[in-house]
Amino acid sequence: MRRIYLDHSATTPVDLEVATLMMTYYTEKYGNPSSVHGFGREAKQALEEARRQVAELIGATPQEIVFTSGGTEADNLAILGTAEAMRKKGKHLITSAIEHHAVLETFEYLEKNGFELTVIPVDAEGIVSVEDVRKAVRPDTILISVMHANNEVGAIQPIVEIGNLAKELGITFHVDAVQSLGKIPINVKEMNIDLLTVSSHKIYGPKGVGALYIRKGVRIVPLAHGGSQEKRRRSGTENTPGIIGFGKACELIGKRMAEDSKLQTKLRDRLMNGIVERIEYVKVNGPIGEKRLSNNVNVSIRFVEGESLLLSLDMLGIAASSGSACTSGSLDPSHVLLAMGLVHEIAHGSLRFSLGRQNTEEEIDYVLEQLPKIVERLRMMSPLYDQVIHANQAQ
Ligand SMILES: *Cc1c(COP(=O)(O)O)cnc(C)c1O
Repeated sequence: MRRIYLDHSATTPVDLEVATLMMTYYTEKYGNPSSVHGFGREAKQALEEARRQVAELIGATPQEIVFTSGGTEADNLAILGTAEAMRKKGKHLITSAIEHHAVLETFEYLEKNGFELTVIPVDAEGIVSVEDVRKAVRPDTILISVMHANNEVGAIQPIVEIGNLAKELGITFHVDAVQSLGKIPINVKEMNIDLLTVSSHKIYGPKGVGALYIRKGVRIVPLAHGGSQEKRRRSGTENTPGIIGFGKACELIGKRMAEDSKLQTKLRDRLMNGIVERIEYVKVNGPIGEKRLSNNVNVSIRFVEGESLLLSLDMLGIAASSGSACTSGSLDPSHVLLAMGLVHEIAHGSLRFSLGRQNTEEEIDYVLEQLPKIVERLRMMSPLYDQVIHANQAQ
């Protein structure tokens, strides 16, 4: 059976060049970077090269990069670390309603433990308003956290404007850039970002590796204690093969970003327009054009369940997702779609396709050929759809 992978926002395949490089650091150059002997120095040198590669992709200096076990840990380190470091200055935190769970739930944890939280709403396209952020600020606000691009609907946020505001007010600004890294150019200096989360496995690197950029001079309290790695900001022996793979993946995606984005935008629009043309009662979720990630398609297909669509697609070897990968398996509709004002019933029938480097036009056309048939079959079993058809016929 053919297999078509359209779930790159959940994870990506590891680039062969990355995997090959990593192998060397598992089997030959396996020293502990903290060791003083040759094996250790060799690993340390490669680790520092990776730090330079990550820093370069986001316009930071290598000393500002702290490696973590992924985006989730980097988000936690940024938020918990700032809250702990700044608690004497204030206890008010600001975030948006469409953040990844790694951000939202970390803030909710702090809210249960004595902090106060303002969650900024979004508009119907899933975009935060800078004015809403400004209005939420209080004298005791210590942290603003807004993601760069949303993982479910691809909405790109006004990070430059929010960064300017945070700088003007002297408030620490955290950005989860896991989805935008390698798709939109990022420069933490120009964007006035203090803390930036990135993850390796969304950019053709290995899973279980990420980083937090911490602007020079910004103080955070570490999550773990006991080792002095990463300048005491992240204790524990470094995942050297993973980090080295992440560094390489950053270098490669930096070179390919413009070309990849151009190709994926074409495929994205072909898929999105094709779905709208071929299927009735479809709503595109998220912005159209410039404000949307180059690889994201998200649609609500009425009178069907997202989960049923996914299973039917999977039987044909087509991998997509409903909402975000982390919430599938639960029956709650996506918090992002609800924040955008979708009613439960419509949010339930939503489907996300996220494109990647290896996808082809031919694959998109196969999906466009199969999806309408699946929808038609599922709708035949839907009592709601039956009522709509009869109502239309009666008119
Ligand atoms: C995937 C993702 C994360 C989590 O990163 P992991 O490396 O999987 O822990 C965080 N934020 C966003 C926006 C993501 O898409």
